[in-house]
Amino acid sequence: MKCLKHQNADAVAVCMGCGMALCPICAGRSSEERFVCSDECAIRVRQSLSSTREGFEKSARSTRVAAWYTLAIGAVLLGLALLMGVAAHDWGSALYFLLMGPIGVVAGIALLMVSKRAPNSTLERDGRGAAARPSP
Ligand SMILES: [Zn+2]
Ligand SMILES: [Zn+2]
Repeated sequence: MKCLKHQNADAVAVCMGCGMALCPICAGRSSEERFVCSDECAIRVRQSLSSTREGFEKSARSTRVAAWYTLAIGAVLLGLALLMGVAAHDWGSALYFLLMGPIGVVAGIALLMVSKRAPNSTLERDGRGAAARPSP
């Protein structure tokens, strides 16, 4: 495969924006370790990256909302258990809610931890100028 701009040069990479073959001269123009043929493609690549970043943040936010809902439901179930047992002396229902409540609380906490951890690792990798951290 030859470079499209320099017909006698072998391609060493392809543009991340349009897939065009790039020789060392063309690839050398690229910044941020992403191979692009032109400034337009550099902008396109950057935009697509930031849109995936937004998607990550959005999904993290919805996971967080779901986590709080799950936590709230767990707390309500525990409250109902108390109400059923102590106020209504319906220990059969109380036991049911007492079993379901902690499941909601644990699931809510697990969701919260997931929503906090997942997007941050991807964000840090893309941060321009951020100090490289040793991967575990
Ligand atoms: Zn391109
Ligand atoms: Zn070239």
